[in-house]
Amino acid sequence: MTRNSDDIAPVKAALSAAIEGREAELLELLETLVEARTVTGNEGPGQEVIVDRLESMGLEPDVWEPDPRRLRDHEGYFETSSYLDVGYEGRPNVAARIEGGDGPTLAVGGHVDVVDVTDDEWDHEPWTVSREGQRLYGRGVADMKGGLAATLIAVEAILEEADGLGGDLIVQSVIEEEDGGVGGTLSVLERGYRPDAAMIAEPYGIPNVGIASAGVMYFTITVPGKSAHAAWGHEGVNAIGKATKIYEALESLDLARKATIDYPPAYRADPSLEGNVTNLNLGTAAAGDWPSTVPSELTFQGRIGWPPGESREAVRAQIEATVEAVAEADTWLADHPPTVEWVGWQAAPHEVDPDAPIVRCARANAEAVTGESGDLVGGTAGLDERFYALYYDVDAVSVGPTGGNFHGADEHTTVDSLLETAETLAHAIVDYQSGEWGS
Ligand SMILES: [Zn+2]
Repeated sequence: MTRNSDDIAPVKAALSAAIEGREAELLELLETLVEARTVTGNEGPGQEVIVDRLESMGLEPDVWEPDPRRLRDHEGYFETSSYLDVGYEGRPNVAARIEGGDGPTLAVGGHVDVVDVTDDEWDHEPWTVSREGQRLYGRGVADMKGGLAATLIAVEAILEEADGLGGDLIVQSVIEEEDGGVGGTLSVLERGYRPDAAMIAEPYGIPNVGIASAGVMYFTITVPGKSAHAAWGHEGVNAIGKATKIYEALESLDLARKATIDYPPAYRADPSLEGNVTNLNLGTAAAGDWPSTVPSELTFQGRIGWPPGESREAVRAQIEATVEAVAEADTWLADHPPTVEWVGWQAAPHEVDPDAPIVRCARANAEAVTGESGDLVGGTAGLDERFYALYYDVDAVSVGPTGGNFHGADEHTTVDSLLETAETLAHAIVDYQSGEWGS
């Protein structure tokens, strides 16, 4: 079935009314999801909530655990930290296909996993939803259980109000986005859920539409020293001392990169990112076990993030060359070179054409729903959306609520932006599948 825009206006009005009438349900669903505590590696309890919800809509969700043997040869594959820690058992993905007309197939949904709560700086209870006026607090309310709940409410409204879909709609809830998404979105695509376009409800601040993600890689640097009793320290080589040279060299590399790499979509939504669209962080350092011993080894774990424009290989080569240059200038390290290994996240950046039909359609509907003008943004975090663009030639955009403190204390979003997200998704689904935007 295809509809023209005159037919669509009343459908959109009915969808908006249906969604506004579901505010309490949306918040209840969000609370249930937050209380499921689905830290990456423990997605099972949240996926049960999603399966129940999809079944209550009369759908028959496909539920499966990813099989790394079937993903291993894929260009986008890497072993995620959570897979190495706990495997994929009890961590299913969930997808449901709703059949529609001959129009384009669209995928909607998001990730059910969240990052852990590791600090005690929260003023609100992290594992439930607290409301203060318009604001909602809790782990995952913004990133991205709010968007996931809004997506399900949007789909419910469509099933009730839209009198059939213009094309197939895939609704999905995936695991381990926070850890690289290999067992999640990549597994969904490899299972055969291949849409013409996708709208993922990441918190990009509706009416902004996310069109790009950053490359993100983790690495481990091992710096050798030579142990000795501290009283004979002159016979040892202190790995901490040698490592500080590497720390400083990488800090200089970071500053040089910041000064030369620019990407306006990254700071359209957050001006503080201007001049900081790439970042290199050494996040952990481990060395030594005793004040009285010269440490024989230091291990750094780090992360580099960068906007579209460079390949993984080029970025790796820069870090490796920086470490090598430090080693060559140091008599000990020249003979005992540090090693750089690439472990965990190894994501390339992506960017969707700003003129792609789904980008124009999502933006137009987000602006119409909110009554504000939005920007095309993105490029400072790694995202699942890259799998669609990099390996399947599918345009995937991020359309989701406003909020803040993602991954931090007192993560928050707003009731209004969740409702606006649900309305925008519902409107954009009907609109995009009318075929008028192309595909
Ligand atoms: Zn997210």
